[in-house]
Amino acid sequence: MWILWISIITIAGILIGWVCTKIISQFHRRRSIFHPLSCEKCSSPIKPLYKFPIIGYFLSQGKCSKCGAKVPSFVFVIPIITPLLLILLFVKFHFSLSFFQYSLLIIAGILIFFLDLYHRIIPDMITLSIILVALIFSFFNDLGFWAALRGGAFGAGFFILIAFIFRFITKREGLGGGDIKLIFLIGLSLGFKLTFLTIFLSSLIGMILYAFSKVRHTVLIPFGSFIVIAMFVSIMTGNR
Ligand SMILES: [Zn+2]
Repeated sequence: MWILWISIITIAGILIGWVCTKIISQFHRRRSIFHPLSCEKCSSPIKPLYKFPIIGYFLSQGKCSKCGAKVPSFVFVIPIITPLLLILLFVKFHFSLSFFQYSLLIIAGILIFFLDLYHRIIPDMITLSIILVALIFSFFNDLGFWAALRGGAFGAGFFILIAFIFRFITKREGLGGGDIKLIFLIGLSLGFKLTFLTIFLSSLIGMILYAFSKVRHTVLIPFGSFIVIAMFVSIMTGNR
């Protein structure tokens, strides 16, 4: 039975991954997601076979078949990581309410990770819809409405305080509104303990990358991407 479920999740994960790839690639070009996935340079459509996980990368060698421009790596990465992350969630949570809630959270997380990494943007459309989802789920899951609200208030309150202190000391914008909404929705979904762990881990990732990075002060850090990684680790290792 496990083999069957894992096969279904794999196929669903690849399909969801394709949709995510389209959303990310069309987002900054302000085009509809129904527009075919195309080369960023010459706009010729990417061949269907090239979009297959692993096979696509070897067939295309990461390049557009028409003009040879490099195809962004997320096109090949997302259809692989989406089913993998969903399978990990299934192994830990089976078919429970948590599995479905965390799956939505992870799919939103994948979108946020790449949009923040490539374009330094965390769209309200994603964060606000997951905030709504988390509030609805809190009436039915084992976290409960008040614990969800407490987690959200802690995360958002903590980030607002840090943003305020950062701006006071450096006179620069540190954490953006997108990051605050993101930690708020994580608080609502995971509760206080795992939100605390997420903040701790994302700061740790940020500090390690900052220590090893050559470009400093000039580049805005994609902190939302670090938060997403930390969130996934917290879900998989922690216990709320
Ligand atoms: Zn091209």
